[in-house]
Amino acid sequence: MENKLYIYNSLTRKKEIFEPINPPHVGMYVCGPTVYGDAHLGHARPAITFDIVFRYLQHLGFKVRYVRNITDVGHLENDADAGEDKIAKKARLEELEPMEVAQYYANRYHENMDSLNVLRPSIEPQASGHIIEQIEMAKKILENGYAYERNGSLYFDVAKYNEDHNYGILSGRKLEDMLNTTRELEGQEEKNNTADFALWKKAQPEHIMRWPSPWSDGFPGWHIECSAMGTKYLGDRFDIHGGGMDLLFPHHESEIAQAVAANGKQPVKYWMHNNMITLNGQKMGKSLGNAVSLEQFFTGEHDLIEQPYSPMTIRFFILQAHYRSTVDFSNEALQAAEKGMKKLFTAIHKLDKLTTADKSDSNINELRDKCYAAMNDDFNSPVLISHLFDGVRIINSVYDKKETITAADLELLKKTFNEFVFDILGLKDEGSSGKNELLDELMNTVLEIRNEARANKDFATSDKIRDELKNIGIIIKDTKNGVEWSVEE
Ligand code: ZN
Repeated sequence: MENKLYIYNSLTRKKEIFEPINPPHVGMYVCGPTVYGDAHLGHARPAITFDIVFRYLQHLGFKVRYVRNITDVGHLENDADAGEDKIAKKARLEELEPMEVAQYYANRYHENMDSLNVLRPSIEPQASGHIIEQIEMAKKILENGYAYERNGSLYFDVAKYNEDHNYGILSGRKLEDMLNTTRELEGQEEKNNTADFALWKKAQPEHIMRWPSPWSDGFPGWHIECSAMGTKYLGDRFDIHGGGMDLLFPHHESEIAQAVAANGKQPVKYWMHNNMITLNGQKMGKSLGNAVSLEQFFTGEHDLIEQPYSPMTIRFFILQAHYRSTVDFSNEALQAAEKGMKKLFTAIHKLDKLTTADKSDSNINELRDKCYAAMNDDFNSPVLISHLFDGVRIINSVYDKKETITAADLELLKKTFNEFVFDILGLKDEGSSGKNELLDELMNTVLEIRNEARANKDFATSDKIRDELKNIGIIIKDTKNGVEWSVEE
């Protein structure tokens, strides 16, 4: 079996064997949210994608330092160099302090991600807490001759950089084309070139988020925060940098340029990008009126949503596609995912009820190897899920006495499901709240008493238990696997 992990590297555009720079340590940076509104599906996908990477690398024994930032300053409207800061704008509209806006939406983001069972990163730095680091990096870029000052703002000199390096190494774009196609931007007359981007912006008098710098009272450009914080916590060369495909250009291309201009080396060994999510075949966006927040998916309170979808349904649905494929959300597809997940957990509940024999009809070792092979093939979660459903078939066959399994294989099957379903895919059984577990235990006790009564031929007591349970809506059924019970619908 091939047991090396392969990762598709956006920088080289091929799958490569994963070899960390300093094993067993792995440094991973993922671009986090800009906290000025509720998290939507577009936030769930990168969070879940890199949660799987984080979980699987840890499962393989790597010590992962996972840094995911919070953008609370410098991300201007339309991702441009001019226009209002997204957070400052929200603060102005709601008459709040900008940090109140940032904190409020960061808290909401955390609640949503906790619901989706996304593990918190090792470090979650905020852009506003790293102004000094950003100024220091901008200074280095200026000293190295790859930036220029204009009216108190500092711009990255893309043309100069491209003479010595390649601005386009990640996106495959050519600078000539960028110069021709980049649309006209307000205030761009300050820049030598349309492709140049701000490292530091002088604040206009009405701009409330501002800090002193050698050039002006102002604020950092959007791209510099990730370069500065990535370098601070992971060093000037680290293993993995992730984010959505929409960030590849100009954000990540510019991160590379800044790091090379400041430190003289490629900052990242493996660049990973998750693909986008569409809703009913359409790109999602606030301006398109189809941006459904995660909260609205969970409650079902949105015109496009037919019913509430649990966080695990959303997670399972996202994992049913490979992270580099697009995913289209629709009510139909989500309902299918809901059913599929229910089938998976119904089988998992049967694992503890299976009886063993002295031979196995299915090859559990092979199933387990296939699960690893799927994850080792660039975190191929849909293929992994299809193998887990082979496992579901085995569980159901053994449960229905159509095939047998040895005790050792049953243990291996349980281990495989525990590791791949819960630890690696990060799915949770939403059906088993503490209350249900208590009911399970209570029912086990009651049914045990009934069994004893029957064993003693005390049918009056056993029938009384059955009838009393029926009165409160619990149906018990005698099957070849013993007594089963269900709550009347
Ligand atoms: Zn970033």
